[in-house]
Amino acid sequence: MKIRFEGLTKRFPNRNKKIKDDVVAVDNFTFEIPDGKLIGLLGPSGCGKSTALNLICGLETATEGKIFFDEDDVTDLPAENRGVGMVFQSYALYPHLTVKKNIMFPLQNLKGEEKMTKQQMEEKALEAAKIVQIEELMERKPSEMSGGQQQRVAIARALVKMPRVLLLDEPLSNLDARLRIQTREEIKRIQNTTKITTIFVTHDQEEAMSISDMIVVMKLGKINQIGKPQEVYDNPVNLFVAKFLGTPPINVFDGVIKGGKLYIGDEEIMGQSYVKGVKDQEVTVGIRPEGFILVPNEKGELDGKKGVFTVNLQAIEVMGRDTSVVFGHEKSEGRLRAIVSSDNAIDADSKVVKFNLNPKKVFVFSKETEERLV
Ligand code: ATP
Repeated sequence: MKIRFEGLTKRFPNRNKKIKDDVVAVDNFTFEIPDGKLIGLLGPSGCGKSTALNLICGLETATEGKIFFDEDDVTDLPAENRGVGMVFQSYALYPHLTVKKNIMFPLQNLKGEEKMTKQQMEEKALEAAKIVQIEELMERKPSEMSGGQQQRVAIARALVKMPRVLLLDEPLSNLDARLRIQTREEIKRIQNTTKITTIFVTHDQEEAMSISDMIVVMKLGKINQIGKPQEVYDNPVNLFVAKFLGTPPINVFDGVIKGGKLYIGDEEIMGQSYVKGVKDQEVTVGIRPEGFILVPNEKGELDGKKGVFTVNLQAIEVMGRDTSVVFGHEKSEGRLRAIVSSDNAIDADSKVVKFNLNPKKVFVFSKETEERLV
């Protein structure tokens, strides 16, 4: 089922009496989530992700705007009639109930035509347990299971009513690193099997990028960009999105466009064809770590002695397949990083390293608005 938002807005009164303005937790959402896809809703803490989910499932009411499930306007529909399954960060399982009873729980209060016999409920619970592959654990209590297994029970409980939409609010944050990766793959598999339109909320960009068909990047209640993960990574619309996606993060420099060419410090790093049509001005330049290219010397060695851009070498970190060149630059703050092939020949004692740059990995932003210029 597709979900459509039209001008969806949620304001909360500001509890800080000195500030009169409301908090706009969700600001004028207008977009459509296609049927059967997994969407990553991504943004820093406090940007409005949980509020957006609560609006979709009906735990919060919208201040303005509308939500449609296919063509049905569900904006004012009570939560229990929306057909939404929800999984929270804390699994919130009932500790005294077995897995089976936990999964069956949402079916117990169904009324009228929907009312089920115990046997029907058990069948449905088993079906849901099979999807998340915990059918062997039905008689256990939550305390007798790992965090990952508990989270699967929570997902099974959300699936048992066969929801039209599945919402997952930071479902992996209580798991350790290895389990997180396993469980996120599991969520992808479950979504692929059920084809239920799923919204997955996280502040972890890597998590969102790795499993989503589409990501929605939010900042301060506003949508900054929507697209396939790779497209958004390759084409960020502004500095915020460019900085938010990618590990290691994008390297940011003060730059200037002069005579139609892009400079960082005294070095011309991109020629006229690159910044075509953009007027001369001070800019912010973002360069992805994989955008630094070592130029081979006469012997074919990648020694970092030639190139258009010079940086101050701080450390070489060997990571197996790749090497991370850690450096500083007078036009940037902090430690910066380039990722290069591990068969490079950079002398770890040299003070500087030179690179050429891959134009597809270099982005130019307005200093004033932080919007992308090139
Ligand atoms: P996190 O990742 O930390 O959970 P989030 O992106 O989910 O954050 P929300 O919880 O949706 O963010 O909050 C968005 C904004 O709305 C925040 O500024 C928050 O302080 C504010 N907010 C949320 N709920 C209320 C409320 N009931 N009353 C007032 N302000 C609220």
